[in-house]
Amino acid sequence: MTHRFWMRHAIELARLCPRSPTAFSVGAVVVGADGVELAHGFSRESDEKVHAEESALNKLGDDPRLAQATIYSTLEPCSRRATATRPPCTDRILSAGLARVVIAWREPATFVENCVGVEKLREHGVEVIELPDLAAEAMSMNRHLDLS
Ligand SMILES: [Zn+2]
Repeated sequence: MTHRFWMRHAIELARLCPRSPTAFSVGAVVVGADGVELAHGFSRESDEKVHAEESALNKLGDDPRLAQATIYSTLEPCSRRATATRPPCTDRILSAGLARVVIAWREPATFVENCVGVEKLREHGVEVIELPDLAAEAMSMNRHLDLS
């Protein structure tokens, strides 16, 4: 299975998000070392604040397969968030111990200035792969938001 296959799956999930004027629509898929999907999630899947990565990780608890897993997220994991009672997705990914993060586009400054999700993950030894050729598709369901 290629990175693009799983990112396309994440993009399909992002299309399922209830639309919001104040948050991005994002899809995420967690794939184990054996190439089998462990869980997936999307923005606002279970409540109006839940992020895609968070929703997927919530389904796995402390599953030991996370240590070898890759998370595919259409958008860069957040490094800060408005809901202070919930950790940013970057922190969730680090504490879950995932090996690799694959994203399609970097978070613009629409809602949070200067997202440093990619930098923080790399600092902690997580491999981050970007698929910029899928960025336009991954952004397509967010066109109602200011993406500059
Ligand atoms: Zn997040």
